[in-house]
Amino acid sequence: MNSPQPRANVAEIPPYVAGKPPTVRPGMTSYKLSSNENPFPPLPGVVEAVQAGVAAMNRYPDMGSVALYEALARTFDVPVEHLSVATGSVGLIYQLVQAFCDPGDEVVFAWRSFEAYPIAVAAAAATPVKVPVTSDGRHDLDAMAAAVTDRTKVVLVCTPNNPTGPAVARAELDAFLAKVPAHVLVVVDEAYVEFVRMDDPVDGLATYRRHDNVVVTRTFSKAYGLAGFRVGYAAAPAPIAAALRAVSLPFGVSTVAQAAAIASLERREELFERVDTLVTERARVVDGLRGAGWDVPEAQGNFVWFELGERTLDFAAAADDAGIVVRPFAGEGCRVSIGETEANDRLVEVARAFRR
Ligand SMILES: *Cc1c(COP(=O)(O)O)cnc(C)c1O
Repeated sequence: MNSPQPRANVAEIPPYVAGKPPTVRPGMTSYKLSSNENPFPPLPGVVEAVQAGVAAMNRYPDMGSVALYEALARTFDVPVEHLSVATGSVGLIYQLVQAFCDPGDEVVFAWRSFEAYPIAVAAAAATPVKVPVTSDGRHDLDAMAAAVTDRTKVVLVCTPNNPTGPAVARAELDAFLAKVPAHVLVVVDEAYVEFVRMDDPVDGLATYRRHDNVVVTRTFSKAYGLAGFRVGYAAAPAPIAAALRAVSLPFGVSTVAQAAAIASLERREELFERVDTLVTERARVVDGLRGAGWDVPEAQGNFVWFELGERTLDFAAAADDAGIVVRPFAGEGCRVSIGETEANDRLVEVARAFRR
């Protein structure tokens, strides 16, 4: 071979399939329900906070993200040394696998779950260990604990689980943590935590405070509506947070992203009213679907899951014809985000017609 060759694992990295943009249909508003984005436009104050950063785009961002760390520390009552910010929580997950795994080390996670997991694991030349979710889309935490070997370095727990919807209960997670050896890092991915409405929910922050091997990752992309700016944060015991910061991309979180995140933390109440609206819409959609005979799993994120098997692409096409773009996983099912009221109405209609 006389050309530069990437490491062998690079060829093993599965592609990330992004949600498609809506199909343009003359005379019809189309909706993108394929990426679990927040359908609300930014709050006015957030847009203004970003303007100053726009005018300073010739300068590098604050490398230490000092003001953002302080705002997070204040908001969540977490010491700054326990925090790490990054370009979205996907960035944090890559960094965690990179910082804790040697090539060949095992990373255990549920499947199907977030599609960035196998990508991050393969990029680090680590070995993915996929533990099937139960028939109702839940993490099988007993099976995940049993899948831990002496090669395991990291376990990823996605709660609520993208794309199937259910969240892990606190008692379940505590029982799981009691079984996992202390040297295994447990990542609690709470990308959708703000949408959870259940008895005995996991509180990632409370959990990491009680365990030396737990890190919680969260994002500004979903409930906070900043997906386009790429900012997420992790909270963990100081040594884990320090490892995360050590492998972080210098100047990764842009000036505008820092400003938007700080302004959004200041407007949490207003943002969480919107989250409540989406949660109400979610209940309406789930009721509508169940009323039409669909057996959708418990939806604790801002999306619903349809198990469709061979009919997955037909369902996606039917939705597309009605002006809504969903996220198909060929041969498995479709994930559909909770969006604008009109979009949600159309989803229920399409799903009802599809069943007939
Ligand atoms: C959307 C999502 C993320 C966050 O992605 P960002 O990189 O912060 O935009 C993390 N985990 C899961 C499970 C997600 O669905």
